[in-house]
Amino acid sequence: RVVVPFGKKKYVTGIVCSLAPVAPVDYEVKPIAIALDSKPIVRFPQIKFWEWIAEYYMCAIGDVYKAAVPAALKVESETYVEINPDIELADELMSLTEIEVMIMQLLQHEGSLPVADIEKKLQSHQLTRSISCMLESGHIIISEKLVERYRPERKSYVVPLFNSDNYRDAFESVKGARKQEQLLQALLSLSDIHRPGVATREVERDTLLKRADVAPAILSALVKKGLVAIHKKEVNRFKFDGEGSGDLPELSEVQQQALSELYAQFRDKSTVLLHGVTASGKTEIYSHLIEQQLNQGNQVLYLVPEIALTTQLTQRLQKIFGNRVVVYHSKFSDNERVDIWKKMLDESKPWVILGARSSLFLPFSRLGLVIVDEEHDASYKQTDPAPRYNARDAAIVLASMHGAKTLLGSATPAIDTYFKATSGKYGLVTLSRRFNNQPLPPIKIIDLTAARKKKEMTGPLTISTIQAVNQTLDNNKQAIFFRNRRGFAPIARCKQCAWIPKCHNCDVTLTYHQSSHKLVCHYCGATYPLPNLCPQCRQPSVEVIGYGTERVEEELLNLFPSRKIIRMDLDTTRNKGNYQSLIEQFSAGKADILIGTQMVTKGLDFKNVKTVTVVNADELITFPDFKSSERGFNMLEQVAGRAGRGDSDGASVLVQTYQPDHPIYPFVVNHDYKGFYDYEIQERQRFNYPPFTRIIYVYLKHRDRGALQTFSQAYAGHLRQLLGNRVQGPDEPKVSRIKSLYIQRIMIKIESTASMAKVRNLLHQTYSAMASDPTMRTSTIYYDVDP
Ligand code: ADP
Ligand code: ZN
Ligand code: ZN
Repeated sequence: RVVVPFGKKKYVTGIVCSLAPVAPVDYEVKPIAIALDSKPIVRFPQIKFWEWIAEYYMCAIGDVYKAAVPAALKVESETYVEINPDIELADELMSLTEIEVMIMQLLQHEGSLPVADIEKKLQSHQLTRSISCMLESGHIIISEKLVERYRPERKSYVVPLFNSDNYRDAFESVKGARKQEQLLQALLSLSDIHRPGVATREVERDTLLKRADVAPAILSALVKKGLVAIHKKEVNRFKFDGEGSGDLPELSEVQQQALSELYAQFRDKSTVLLHGVTASGKTEIYSHLIEQQLNQGNQVLYLVPEIALTTQLTQRLQKIFGNRVVVYHSKFSDNERVDIWKKMLDESKPWVILGARSSLFLPFSRLGLVIVDEEHDASYKQTDPAPRYNARDAAIVLASMHGAKTLLGSATPAIDTYFKATSGKYGLVTLSRRFNNQPLPPIKIIDLTAARKKKEMTGPLTISTIQAVNQTLDNNKQAIFFRNRRGFAPIARCKQCAWIPKCHNCDVTLTYHQSSHKLVCHYCGATYPLPNLCPQCRQPSVEVIGYGTERVEEELLNLFPSRKIIRMDLDTTRNKGNYQSLIEQFSAGKADILIGTQMVTKGLDFKNVKTVTVVNADELITFPDFKSSERGFNMLEQVAGRAGRGDSDGASVLVQTYQPDHPIYPFVVNHDYKGFYDYEIQERQRFNYPPFTRIIYVYLKHRDRGALQTFSQAYAGHLRQLLGNRVQGPDEPKVSRIKSLYIQRIMIKIESTASMAKVRNLLHQTYSAMASDPTMRTSTIYYDVDP
């Protein structure tokens, strides 16, 4: 990394990608200000991988860099000023005003300071003018002091100042002071310093105090006596204890056969899909593949779609592989992430990196295998901000850059993936039975319209659902409720005049959160009070409608008053440790019911869960998008997969819906992935959707609705000239305004055989051509490739 001047006063960090033998002639080059590292912080092929993402997903490479590198490795520049070292201070002070003298004295004392700090210290806000004058007169100069944000962790170490020859003297000098003796004794046993021939060894302060079981004051006493010294040292936070058992789970016959097939397919395919029903033991098979890679000295990247999943998996994998398991995701502090990054740069050990999508960007050295678990999961796609990449697809590219293999695992493969696996592009291995031949749990579709008519509902649940759950709980088993809305109620409304509060910045209704007594916009985070009086009709008649996780929890507390309930959603898992503690509590049987958003549906392995309830399946299956059936089927099948994992006796899945006749339910009820795939692939072909075409959305955003409409019409028109009827729209997406910007979307559908490079070229061409339109300057335009 280097710091380079950018414009007049700014400094930015950059990464040197290549060296040119001669200086460019068409612009002036400035010298590099500082080289930050003594060795590179990225390694081959990382930059190549960033370039691929930037090109394929049509964004700036800087956006990829921002997503890839932990913030702490980037340098910030703040404007610092200091006294011009070339002036004679004593002479100059005479010619300055009172305030200028104060500034000079402050700088003389402090060296250099950011302008903001000078204002703070002198308690004045009008200093910019004085400072500019002083800059102009040459009394002070700008010193760009760079702040590196990475703070290494420092620890104190104790160094004995005696050796094997004179350690007895040391004991002599503390004679009678029992605690000090105790401390010296501990120091000897930890440092071995009393043994002849042992070089000076330091001991970590906290470890020493713990071993000696004495207070820090005792250590200070030894320092005063000149027996030991203390010094601070940087340590890497990245560390794990324990070796792991190395014991792999013994595979069942069916699993063993699947494993052999995987090895066989990997011989001539670089990507293989493992299609195994829920609880068939895919994780067990992965551990065998991991073991083989580690034995060969290779690294393995194990990707999961949700951070929540790393918790259980870390435990399962660490039991086997011990400290060779490394976890990495965005809930880690920035400093922790840098530590892992640096460790991976310094050492090329065989590790399993377990992480969410950002772990794709780590500096791998010997990548042998990438496992993409739950490969169908929509969370692998980053929607905002750029790079809008799909981590599964990028993983395949990353693996090929390393000459590594990719294993995609799922009970409900993405339509796109299954298409590739059945047409020979990927290998395919199938596991159609659960481990121990447990049957998949029966699924009941519960008609909410009918239940409502017959008045067989309490809050969001039907009587039959409540009965089934009661039975489960009476048998000392656990239940899960799935509701894909957080907060208390998704809508507030006036009973009198039907007024509905909406966000001022976005085109969305506000969700009422009871814990904070606020209406919250889930798109921009803005909060509003819930009005006592309707602002439209002035009546005290504003009510909240519908059920979010908070309200379902409240209903459950009323329905099952003696049971302990855990809620898991974005609001209860804001911190790194939250997931772990909630999942552990539920696993350990410290609660009877788990209610949550989609994070409770994916991949978690709870042995004691018998009943899983989907509170409202309608919004899972009716989403205005060509992938809505796929997502709905996957989610329902995954939810179902949480029931009866230990043993399936009495397990059931309850799906509450207002549309019991929806075409995907028969497939769900029969756990018929293949049937669903055949149905869905025909729909895709009929309507010319992926995998038969590729889709790129062009998003246009602007503050002014009218200007945006005219502009996006013109934009689509230009695209049509180049791409013909492959261009559709512009249209308004379902949420047509976010954070005060109106949104229009143009869809480009391209034959799967067409050259993407050519299409990208035409898109870039349109972008340049539209630059002359005055609206362009104030709009935001970006692409979403393979949405
Ligand atoms: P999947 O990842 O396919 O959903 P898991 O790997 O989580 O399935 O396995 C489901 C359950 O069955 C887990 O609790 C796991 O411990 C158990 N299991 C699977 N295979 C074996 C095996 N070979 N030996 C012992 N237990 C197994
Ligand atoms: Zn009203
Ligand atoms: Zn908003």
